[in-house]
Amino acid sequence: AQQAPAGNGPAQVKISNLNKTFHRGKEAVHVLRDISLEIAQGELLVLLGPSGCGKTTLLRCLVGLEKPGQGRVELGDTTVVDADARVFVQPNKRDVAMVFQNYALWPHMKVAANVAYPLKARKMKDELKNGRVHEVLQVVQCDHLADRYPPELSGGQQQRISLARALAPRPALLLLDEPLSNLDALLRIELRAQLRLLHRELGFTGVYVTHDQEEALALGTRVAVMKEGQFEQIGPPAEVYSFPATEYVADFLGARNRLELHTEGDGRATVAGVPLEGFVRPGLGGRFALRLRDADPVLRVAGTPGDEDRHWITGAELIEVLPAGDHAEHVVRLGDQTLFVDVPATRGVFEPGAKVDIGLATDSVLCYDADGRLVRD
Ligand code: ATP
Repeated sequence: AQQAPAGNGPAQVKISNLNKTFHRGKEAVHVLRDISLEIAQGELLVLLGPSGCGKTTLLRCLVGLEKPGQGRVELGDTTVVDADARVFVQPNKRDVAMVFQNYALWPHMKVAANVAYPLKARKMKDELKNGRVHEVLQVVQCDHLADRYPPELSGGQQQRISLARALAPRPALLLLDEPLSNLDALLRIELRAQLRLLHRELGFTGVYVTHDQEEALALGTRVAVMKEGQFEQIGPPAEVYSFPATEYVADFLGARNRLELHTEGDGRATVAGVPLEGFVRPGLGGRFALRLRDADPVLRVAGTPGDEDRHWITGAELIEVLPAGDHAEHVVRLGDQTLFVDVPATRGVFEPGAKVDIGLATDSVLCYDADGRLVRD
């Protein structure tokens, strides 16, 4: 049998009309719903979405651990899945490497042997193999750990080794399934930065699964937000962050505050029954939803002067203040709606129970129509 070749390097990936349904007794769960996507050579695509939306299933279809019911996957010039043509290349014959959340290193093998394993499987010559092992261990700054066993390493070190093992054969495609989520917060941020640097230096083609929006925005050349087995939006991080196409995406990217806006065709608008002067953005009459990030609005004590460029909503009450170092999270009630507002620590203190006004800046407010679609001016 032919082994996947070592050293072909990053490839372009083309996924066409991929469908996957799991059957549990009489129940059928349609987990991937006609997914199509092209990933450019050298691109690091991040899949972002809540638990159960199908991220891992998509990775498993790419590596060959799941067989899709319909659809096609091409890696460079090689078709690895074509359901219609009954093509299904086994995982060990695909030039795809995977990094898992739990590192999945062999505990009884030294670090160097772990990293060498995929090269051995691909029948790389010993001289070349040893060189490559040290090269990738250097890349992840773990060359000094070559003679240790995985249980003797920290979580962060183990994850670096597992990354080195995946990178060693220079796979056409590297899959990363929440690789940082077992690490503590500081280490996660450090490794995230290293991974970004690695990607820039090595230019591997990768698909990275996470449900952490910061990680997605920091690492992705593009971010694909998934909902129930489909892509809700795909785009560069800055675009997905600044212009979430739907309320679902907005919610997922931190714009968790929601205010209902009622407009009359003539430009009059109300939020929670409070007139909002000069806020004419949607133009047409109807119901809209405003979405705000915690850092977007500002507060003032009711009726006191505030920034005149902002639109002020009156009649809110401060419920709770939660200090968070450089800022404090303010929980604000407006009618039956609750908002979370970050106030910088330098901006003075508001007391719980105080009547406050909420100041919105038009350029940071996201506005959605009744179907949950972004209204862009
Ligand atoms: P998480 O972030 O929790 O890992 P995910 O987005 O990766 O979630 P998947 O693991 O792809 O989600 O699962 C998607 C759906 O498919 C879930 O509803 C899950 O229960 C179901 N599912 C996954 N594997 C199987 C299986 N082998 N048999 C039946 N159902 C499955």
